[in-house]
Amino acid sequence: AKARGRNGYSFYMPSMTGEGVERLRLETYLRRSIEKNEIFLTYQPQVEIDTGRLIGVEALVRWNHPELGLVPPVRFIPLAEDTGFINQLGEWVLHEACRQMNRWQEAGLHVPKMAVNLSARQFERGGIVNLVADILADTGLAPQRLQLEVTESVIMNTGDAMVFINDLHAIGVALAIDDFGTGYSSLAYLKQLPVQTLKIDRSFIKDISTDANDEAIAIAIIQLGKSMNLSVIAEGVETKEQATFLLRHGCRLAQGYLYGKPLSPADLLARWHV
Ligand code: C2E
Ligand code: CA
Ligand code: CA
Ligand code: CA
Repeated sequence: AKARGRNGYSFYMPSMTGEGVERLRLETYLRRSIEKNEIFLTYQPQVEIDTGRLIGVEALVRWNHPELGLVPPVRFIPLAEDTGFINQLGEWVLHEACRQMNRWQEAGLHVPKMAVNLSARQFERGGIVNLVADILADTGLAPQRLQLEVTESVIMNTGDAMVFINDLHAIGVALAIDDFGTGYSSLAYLKQLPVQTLKIDRSFIKDISTDANDEAIAIAIIQLGKSMNLSVIAEGVETKEQATFLLRHGCRLAQGYLYGKPLSPADLLARWHV
């Protein structure tokens, strides 16, 4: 039998499957995770390939539960999106990421740009623009130093996302298209949107020197970026060969294990502070 939970979420009674129990447990834990200080951010460097210069970092959320251990984002982000908790989580992430820029600055490290991922549901209510504006005002971070990462499907499938993205651009915030090439094939939106950056999805980078199709797609994205005057950053760069290939084809920016895994604030400081 199906029953209505306290918060309006439906769950299964008592014949619940193992998977359902697991999911409900995860959901219950997740709802308390912020107040229990189990959520934290790691920061992955984004670099200029030829100089190794740090051009920015991407904030990547982590959840460390006392019993479950470190739960990977692929397990809890979709759950947070389904339950709506992503709105609280996303707000916490944005605020914390912007505060971290100040802490690094005080410690003598200037990180040029902070990239933060946004989910579709964060665009459902108009609040996102005011939220970002409030956080920028609270932390004093220059809007140009915040880059919001959204996927093509967020742009194409989320009602007023285009409107809000234009509003965010109006307050000076930068926008990147995440996982570029994996979503919609329609490129028309690129003309209409104030996008500054394309992130080539890791799946195209992985076999770049052995798979002719991946190679062709990566080159096409780099060319597209060039002709539309957008910066292009390659994700998931793990080897020197990949980096060399990218540079040879005109992609100057990269992110990936070759340059650094997602790091704690202290580790990022230790690695990049001069
Ligand atoms: P994403 O935005 O595409 O982030 C890149 C993912 O690739 C990260 O996984 C990162 O750790 C991983 N990665 C980076 N370099 C390499 C590499 O060289 N090799 C390999 N194999 N992997 C690499 P992570 O941290 O597990 O995050 C997974 C996804 O969860 C993210 O994909 C993003 O979609 C989502 N996510 C993470 N943090 C947030 C957040 O704060 N808000 C939202 N809405 N989504 C988030
Ligand atoms: Ca991302
Ligand atoms: Ca990505
Ligand atoms: Ca991804």
